[in-house]
Amino acid sequence: MEFEPVIGLEVHAELQTRSKMFCACPVVDATQAEPNTAVCPVCAGMPGVLPVINQRAVEYALRVALALDCEIATHSLFARKNYFYPDLPKGYQISQYEYPLAQHGRLPIFTSAGERAVSIRRVHLEEDTGKLTHITPPGGESFSLVDLNRAGVPLLEIVSEPDLFSVEEVRAYAMALRTLLRYLGVNSGDMEKGVIRFEANVSVRPKGSTQLGTRVEIKNLNSFRALERAVAYEIERQSRLLSQGQHVEQETLGWNETEERTYSQRSKEEAHDYRYFPEPDLPPLVIEKAWIAAVRAALPELPHARRRRFIENYGLSPIDAALLVNERAVAEYYEAAVRAASDLPPRMIANWILGEVFAWMNESGESIEQLKVSPDALAELLAHLQAGEINQTTAKAVLQEMLQSGERAAAIITSRGLRQVSDADALRALVARVLAENPNEVQSYLRGKETLANWFFGQVMRAVGGKANPQVLRAELERQLSELKSHHAN
Ligand code: ADP
Ligand code: MG
Ligand code: ZN
Repeated sequence: MEFEPVIGLEVHAELQTRSKMFCACPVVDATQAEPNTAVCPVCAGMPGVLPVINQRAVEYALRVALALDCEIATHSLFARKNYFYPDLPKGYQISQYEYPLAQHGRLPIFTSAGERAVSIRRVHLEEDTGKLTHITPPGGESFSLVDLNRAGVPLLEIVSEPDLFSVEEVRAYAMALRTLLRYLGVNSGDMEKGVIRFEANVSVRPKGSTQLGTRVEIKNLNSFRALERAVAYEIERQSRLLSQGQHVEQETLGWNETEERTYSQRSKEEAHDYRYFPEPDLPPLVIEKAWIAAVRAALPELPHARRRRFIENYGLSPIDAALLVNERAVAEYYEAAVRAASDLPPRMIANWILGEVFAWMNESGESIEQLKVSPDALAELLAHLQAGEINQTTAKAVLQEMLQSGERAAAIITSRGLRQVSDADALRALVARVLAENPNEVQSYLRGKETLANWFFGQVMRAVGGKANPQVLRAELERQLSELKSHHAN
């Protein structure tokens, strides 16, 4: 029997506002700030303090919910999720439960099978917990350190329907969500800093079945790699169990990064009872229609819409369009270059960015914003290429120099004497000279060794330092060779 996986993702994304969700403490970079320096009585859970909702966090949440095509609840409610853990000083987390901010959305994903919208179940606001660091000194007793800088940071939970059916789709969905959050300016997408975290619910079922199988929930997946490996591992494991006539236990799992396997954290029987109840210290969250309309109107062009537009307007392949759209700044760089070079084919510009410019960024570690070559400058270089003043090889060399020095293409071409030799008379003389200097090769050619044409081409190119216009050279060479051939035949 064949099995089909079904996956639902819960994604936690920090909302990178200036202050925390319910107090005025700053949101600081978890990897930079001294521990416990952004803490106050509210986020430290002192008795008698009162939370106040961060309006900007609500606005950020609205941006995401609207971008995901959700229905926004004009009334939503905060609730207390009660549990004890040292990273949670209040003894409960303020979250939304029965009445979330938004529901019933969708996110388009692109895979090798094409485009499809994945259903989103809900989007709700909550607060992050503190961070624990577990330490085991050699030979000593282990202990844990608590950092409350992260406690109370606004957190958005985005829950999909069980509507993902392969590891590839899981990856595409998670990446699309990260790209979206970055476009919306609500999250940096820095996975190493833990600003986006995944939980994956995985089940398998006989192929063709419409019922859901028993699922497990894998907690604390903090990278795309971990997410993909863990989901793949579970699909394997569960399919094997079912095909052996065994059943899948409903449980919560952890992911062992080094051993690359899931392990049981708790079973259904030990499942938490969070005893949710409405947060008595916060009023219902009431959102005016006018605010929703204003946030919607201010949304930027979304990645999936931009990708579609790039495919349609610029004739890009879906893959190239995706690569350009992934980063908002790259997409904007590309379009600025297209605007600056209105008579160049947009695909040519895309190829240069995805090839030479991306390679440079990879090597140098520079981001697109740090490049010494502006979109205008790139467009200028490509115009010289298109006009036949320089050839492809020279253009690549000029771009390297531009990237290193920030000089403009025209200046480099002139000062280095790189202008291409397109002059037919000059090339005619050169071809004639090369043929005259290599009588043996010419004889072999005339006796049928046609591949020598490329060798002659290379000789002439070398003679002009690679600067010959290849089309003009090829035509001239062919002309002279066929002339020799007709003499030879006579
Ligand atoms: P909980 O609140 O206990 O985590 P939910 O029912 O709200 O559970 O579901 C959480 C996530 O699990 C959602 O993303 C949902 O799509 C997914 N999910 C639910 N049932 C299944 C299943 N049988 N297989 C895969 N994913 C599932
Ligand atoms: Mg869950
Ligand atoms: Zn605080």
